[in-house]
Amino acid sequence: MPFRNTEPGRLRRPAVAAAALVTALVTAVVLSGCVKQADRSAGGSGRLDVVAGFYPFAYLAEQIGGEHVSVRNLTRPGAEPHDLELTPSQVGAVSKADLAIYEKGLQPAVDSAVAQNKPKAALDTATVVHLENHGDLGEGDAHSADPHVWLDPVDFAKIADAVSAELQRIDAAHAADYQANQAALDGRLTTLDADYRAGLARCVRKDIVTSHAAFGYLAERYGLVQVPIAGLSPDDEPSAAHLAKIQHLIKTEGVTTVFFETLASPKTARTLAADTGTKAAVLDPIEGVKDPSTQDYFSIMRDNLAALRTALGCS
Ligand SMILES: [Zn+2]
Repeated sequence: MPFRNTEPGRLRRPAVAAAALVTALVTAVVLSGCVKQADRSAGGSGRLDVVAGFYPFAYLAEQIGGEHVSVRNLTRPGAEPHDLELTPSQVGAVSKADLAIYEKGLQPAVDSAVAQNKPKAALDTATVVHLENHGDLGEGDAHSADPHVWLDPVDFAKIADAVSAELQRIDAAHAADYQANQAALDGRLTTLDADYRAGLARCVRKDIVTSHAAFGYLAERYGLVQVPIAGLSPDDEPSAAHLAKIQHLIKTEGVTTVFFETLASPKTARTLAADTGTKAAVLDPIEGVKDPSTQDYFSIMRDNLAALRTALGCS
């Protein structure tokens, strides 16, 4: 399947004009072709095509790139990014991209699309932030790198830095805009980090029982202890022994809440909450956003903070 630009109108207009006015407008077609090339090379109204593996990186590209980029999120809204499959048109988009932003190891299909189709530039965020092992299950996860770095605002700011640097390198004409956008974003992330530190400083409890092991970096940053039901991917099913261990911990540590998430199935978490007489509440790993018009990275991070404060009895 041929590559489809996310903004077909912009690139196809010359072709449509040529078809409609066959004989007289050969000159016009040639001219519009020239304009298009000039736009792109001079960084005029032509925007950089950026593809992102999933929501947090698409959000960074949009926030930092602003009007100079056209961002395509390879994970559709409401879908779950772990083990994403790509359509042929998405693979085509990777091959034509000016920049691909992805995290090696999280989405093997994106890894191989980048490796085989050579976008003009690629940023593997796993080279920006050192991935740690948070394998708490002892069921095959112990040696896997935890990919969920975006849930730590400090690590996320480092990735934002790298995205900004890459955009400046590719499109030097707009470097000042990328720097300004990144500085604004960095300020918001610094505030978010301060609010997390203050909001989680005085809490009755520290254990957070989560649906899958997505909150290792966040827990480490703010002195919490993550107790994941599933492993590093939502598909890693817990064993009966592991569930029994969590049930025991819920009772002995006085855990009030079992967290589930919006995209993966909440069934196990809800059952565990019912069995232990605790509440079930949402803690969103921000792997995708169901409704980008009402939610974004910051609004979800703040909802998560409020949910954590309630569950942990923070003052
Ligand atoms: Zn995850």
